[in-house]
Amino acid sequence: MSERPVLLVTGGSRGIGAAVCLAAAEQGWRVVVNYASNEAAAQDVVARIRDAGGEAMAVKGDVGSEMDILALFAEVDRAYGRLDGLVNNAGIVDRAARVDEMSLERLERMMRINIIGSMLCAREAVRRMSPRHGGRGGAIVNISSMAAVLGSPSQYVDYAASKAAIDTFTVGLAREVASEGVRINAVRPGIIDTDIHASGGEPDRATRLASTIPMQRPGTAREIADAVLHLLSPASSYTTGAILNVSGGR
Ligand code: NAP
Repeated sequence: MSERPVLLVTGGSRGIGAAVCLAAAEQGWRVVVNYASNEAAAQDVVARIRDAGGEAMAVKGDVGSEMDILALFAEVDRAYGRLDGLVNNAGIVDRAARVDEMSLERLERMMRINIIGSMLCAREAVRRMSPRHGGRGGAIVNISSMAAVLGSPSQYVDYAASKAAIDTFTVGLAREVASEGVRINAVRPGIIDTDIHASGGEPDRATRLASTIPMQRPGTAREIADAVLHLLSPASSYTTGAILNVSGGR
């Protein structure tokens, strides 16, 4: 069996996750491309990796479902028998709204996917990476957001709060497993040009807000991927519990 390390990227089929998958494959990782529903996009990422000589597979699964998460990790076990990296990237926004307009259903969906999904995936990863469970270490990168710091008033305070939870989870879990060879870090993207803005009802959000960004432009998914790959690599071997802003100064 190939000894190349294995990376699981949740929501790896589009946007930032897809850029992470492609960059990771370039650096020698075998990549598991998780997706929720758009199989064609996931298979496209897999095909691009294979065409370039890399190894990848797509696995469907909703991180809002514990059953799907267990099946996803079982599939990684079956296919590769090891897990060295996890990028908790899958995440959602919702339509712009004030808190006094938000329904229970909206809030539960937001927290289930963005917070609980990431925590359950990290749990499964630590169960495979920590020597307490027979693993040999690993690295997890959680995708937070500058919204965690800015609060996103009148847009999506629920989303911002879910990402603040990711920041605290990153620090706590990092300290919990630091002596076990498992590093946990986070990246806070600023405004990145992906489809997520269209899913929140504002397809031109990234260009519209460009003038509010100190660097005067949105970031690219690749610029986030490069930061994620750094935190996954041995180049950051003494870095854990860190939260890296990749936001053009925002
Ligand atoms: P995106 O373009 O909307 O892509 C989302 C990806 O996540 C897709 O691959 C999608 O798969 C998958 N996904 C969505 N819900 C899922 C679920 N329940 N289970 C599994 N996969 C799911 O998003 P993005 O802009 O790349 O954002 C990626 C991460 O970066 C998110 O955590 C987001 O909060 C964070 N972020 C983004 C920005 C930004 O400006 N873009 C800024 C800060 C933080 P399908 O195609 O199958 O639905």
